[in-house]
Amino acid sequence: MATREKINAIVAIACAAAVSLVVAALYRRLRRRRAAGWRCCSEFEDKPQNRFKRVLADNSYAPFKHFKREEKEEEVSLKMHPFEEEITSLLENPPALLNFITTHEYSDMSASYVWIDTEHQLEYLAKLLSEEQVFAVDTEQHSLRSFLGFTALMQISIEREDFLIDTIALHDVMGILRPVFADPSICKVFHGADNDVLWLQRDFHIYVVNMFDTAKACEILSKPHKSLAYLLETYCGVSTDKTLQREDWRVRPLSVEMIEYARIDAHYLLYIADCLASELRRKSPDTSACPDDKFNFFFEASRRSNMVCLQLYVKEIESTPGASAAASILSRNLSVQGVTSWKSSEIKDLIWKLCAWRDLMARIHDESLRYVLSDQAIVSLAVRIPKEPIEVYDVIQQADLDNGSSNIYSILPSPSPIVSTHIKELCFLLREASANIDDVFRRFLQKHLGPIGCCPLSAYNYAILSEFSLKQTNTLFMKHAGEKFTSTIGKKASRELFVQKFSCKSPVYHNCRIYASDGRLLCYCDRRKLEWYLKRDLAKVVEDDPPAIMLLFEPKGRPEDEDNDFYIQSKKNICVGCGEKNHYLRYRIIPSCYRMHFPEHLKSHRSHDIVLLCVDCHEIAHSAAEKYKRQIAEEFGIPLFVRKIVDSGESTVATVSSKSLGVIEETGVSPLQLRTAAMALLRHGSSMPARRNHFLCATCYFHLLSS
Ligand code: AMP
Ligand code: MN
Ligand code: ZN
Repeated sequence: MATREKINAIVAIACAAAVSLVVAALYRRLRRRRAAGWRCCSEFEDKPQNRFKRVLADNSYAPFKHFKREEKEEEVSLKMHPFEEEITSLLENPPALLNFITTHEYSDMSASYVWIDTEHQLEYLAKLLSEEQVFAVDTEQHSLRSFLGFTALMQISIEREDFLIDTIALHDVMGILRPVFADPSICKVFHGADNDVLWLQRDFHIYVVNMFDTAKACEILSKPHKSLAYLLETYCGVSTDKTLQREDWRVRPLSVEMIEYARIDAHYLLYIADCLASELRRKSPDTSACPDDKFNFFFEASRRSNMVCLQLYVKEIESTPGASAAASILSRNLSVQGVTSWKSSEIKDLIWKLCAWRDLMARIHDESLRYVLSDQAIVSLAVRIPKEPIEVYDVIQQADLDNGSSNIYSILPSPSPIVSTHIKELCFLLREASANIDDVFRRFLQKHLGPIGCCPLSAYNYAILSEFSLKQTNTLFMKHAGEKFTSTIGKKASRELFVQKFSCKSPVYHNCRIYASDGRLLCYCDRRKLEWYLKRDLAKVVEDDPPAIMLLFEPKGRPEDEDNDFYIQSKKNICVGCGEKNHYLRYRIIPSCYRMHFPEHLKSHRSHDIVLLCVDCHEIAHSAAEKYKRQIAEEFGIPLFVRKIVDSGESTVATVSSKSLGVIEETGVSPLQLRTAAMALLRHGSSMPARRNHFLCATCYFHLLSS
């Protein structure tokens, strides 16, 4: 009976704990929101790229990783062209001259085109294209409100149809087109593909194999111009307004003019390619007289086109952040604005610093350099060195006014919201001429992306942080004041990884229902349970979505018999602490170290004590639970297991100095700490100093034994 009372007490405490955890989590979150008050503006701006889940080229300083083909056995470098072999083979044996169109006539653009913005449609298009011999391609980019830029639209035309692909909506699944683009038997017609080829690699790991570039054909035919506008005019009598090229291609729906423009860029390409190919053939000497294809101009055009395909997208790597922009600004402005005066070295220094700051800001917020701060504003700031926010704004505004009244940038906010929200540090930079830029840089990074950072963490800037913390993992646990920064940064980065790796990958509650034969609801459950009954012919399906079954036999008991309506409630897939919908993981309210001692009827087939929590609430709940555990341990004289092992001196843990273990016991081990410790042990366990190895082992043991 005594044990029973004890268990009841524990359950009661655990339940009380659970409720208070949830309340505490809610309260903390509210308080955090309120305390934050000032937050970086861009957090509230809905930029389409924030919805991308797969970002191949992030804004970190790390090199771009190219596509790795699974079928390739040998270890290939991520810096190599994954389709180099296929392209090289095309260079050696150019594909035979084909008919780009069957009729040798161009069709006018009809009113209809196909807008592709679902995965299903894209798959259909991929299938359709795989049966073509040739198709024409063009892309539109957006680069003002993004650091590296992204593809906002892809136009594909076949002889009978124009397709406009919403590459924003389909960003994460554009790889569906990878096979048709890499298929050497399908010719892709572009005009001036140098950039498109790189953009497709950057955004989608799409590599073009077998291309005919009409601009290359112009080159070989020594045309007076090689612009698409010229070709459209000459061959199709179509005039275009190229200013539309610089429209904001992110907008949806696209305007009628933009759709028209976008379609024109691909629609006539097959016909133009056909005309140019005929000219190339006519220009070539008779092949029977001269079998050497060196003089086959079509082959030469094909070769030059495929040389473009061999290019690889690379992220520009600078010696110091912003260095190339600074060098370019200096070379353009050295002789003007009195930069040659005695102050010139100070001015130069400031230009470098401002460029570095701008570079970091642009990467963090995923904005173009120009959007953050214009070159001319940088020069003005460096020359006039304003000290107060109001003066800084003034200088920037004036510089942009003087310079921009005639160009498209004049519509940009000046100063930009990035400057306004980060004005304090910009002033600091201007004031503290002697500040070490590396230190400043680190501090800014922490301030912006650290655990209480003011700027949102995203797929674009996350790696800037992890790159930083990667180098610092060994110092993560050390308590020196100077290293606190890397430790906190590591935590935030680790949190993101934790979310990615450990949050539930699919909804936990399927909310399937089981009915008794009299139609009464017995319980909500997952799919597996339904399948179990169905496989054994113990039930029949009565509803499809969400699925429900009816039992063909009379069950042992009814939920109401057990005075328990827990199982006949549908459950939401959200964090019970804060309502977070995007990620959650299972959390056991009653730690398994207690649960394992429960009587069978309380623990078998019982899931009352499992709730969903987001990572943040999980951490809060976990550390509070650790606290309660210690309290319970004291109150009821239940030993904390680690101490027991340490005392008995039987385990590895015993070799850890009691001082370091004290730290763990005092604070508990959070899932993040556990993960970091385990990863460090897996990766560097054998090479790290013995003391550290033991400390990390203790961290893991503690967690295992206490949860
Ligand atoms: P196009 O190949 O002409 O369709 O251009 C493709 C993309 O390149 C456009 O969506 C623009 O983002 C970019 N682009 C090309 N030329 C310019 C230019 N002169 N100024 C700004 N952006 C350009
Ligand atoms: Mn275009
Ligand atoms: Zn939460």
